[in-house]
Amino acid sequence: MTRTRALRVAVAGAGFSGAVIARRLAEAGHDVVVFETRDHVAGNCHTERDPETQVMVHRYGPHIFHTGDERVWAYVNRFGTMMPFNHRVRTTVEGRVYLLPVNLLTINQLFETTLGPDEAKAFIADQADSSIGEPRNFEEQALKFMGRRLYEAFFLGYTRKQWGLAPTEIPASVLKRLPLRFSYEDSYFHHPHQAIPRDGYTAIVEAILDHPGITVQLSTAYTAADRAGFDHSVWSGPLDAWFDHRYGRLGYRTLDFEEIRAVGDHLGCAVMNYGDLEVPYTRIAEHKHFAPWEEHEGTVCFRETSRLAGEGDTPYYPIRLAEDKGVLRQYLDAARAETRVTFVGRLGTYRYLDMDVTIAEALTAADGILHAVEHDTPV
Ligand code: UDP
Repeated sequence: MTRTRALRVAVAGAGFSGAVIARRLAEAGHDVVVFETRDHVAGNCHTERDPETQVMVHRYGPHIFHTGDERVWAYVNRFGTMMPFNHRVRTTVEGRVYLLPVNLLTINQLFETTLGPDEAKAFIADQADSSIGEPRNFEEQALKFMGRRLYEAFFLGYTRKQWGLAPTEIPASVLKRLPLRFSYEDSYFHHPHQAIPRDGYTAIVEAILDHPGITVQLSTAYTAADRAGFDHSVWSGPLDAWFDHRYGRLGYRTLDFEEIRAVGDHLGCAVMNYGDLEVPYTRIAEHKHFAPWEEHEGTVCFRETSRLAGEGDTPYYPIRLAEDKGVLRQYLDAARAETRVTFVGRLGTYRYLDMDVTIAEALTAADGILHAVEHDTPV
């Protein structure tokens, strides 16, 4: 590739990864065609107004933007108005409602105590299983850090439902996403910037893609036959699909949403989790509470259940189990050996990514492509 001519670049997928890279390449003077199999942009962040209630619905489940990365924060603010949003989650277990993430109030309510922070720390340390060295899985991680009672109340049932597996089969890293707090702080995230776009995520992604150097083709797959027409491909589709599943399929969990419609307020909060195994769903999201600056009479909630994704299902959560890992290694090696393609995003790299990380990685990937073009080295 040489600097003297504009490249023709194909971007597969119009989620944050694809859009951010397309924009950066287009701004550098290249011609970009974005292929998107769905009939809308924004991937699983897609939001749209419900025609009946006008509530902004997060079509593929709730997305809350949170970041400590100033470059990413400045980037999203360039393309839309971000409204401060402090995410707070409640959970219903054993017939009671508690606050998440597990904090001092959760602990005091569950154990019917009135402990202060230091007392609670000592109390939980006493509950924790100190015989566990380096936790090998989700359950060991939980037992080591919070003990059996908290684990069984808030994590065991929910995790079984969410992952369809015993927590002993799930990586410890999944639990590390959630803090255990010895204060009454019940913000779900700790990042300095926490927000939801005023006009939804789809409007932001549309604005990112709105550049004369970018053509977006909706309802259009990027096929192997299309590749020859481009100098470079950016693939944010499933990693295994690029290789025609030659080493087998990488597993995903998918989600089903059952809509609940009502007048007024159904939950009283944006997200209510359900920790009991007997309750078939994992959580309910009430979408109008993701836009507290708006007022709506009607309400739309999604009752969410999780299951193993079959062919044709929307992939949500990569299941990075041991057997997946063997297959994954083969794909990652194949991806490294492949030229003229950049693999990005949750599906393209088979990792569970928050939106801010997705954007940060997309900016870095675009820099990498531009750098290679400039220095005439292979991408
Ligand atoms: N989790 C749980 N109980 C809850 C919430 C979360 O056991 O009430 C576990 C579950 O295994 C989940 C993980 O903690 O996959 C991470 O939670 P997070 O809220 O980050 O999940 P997300 O919905 O973002 O995937």
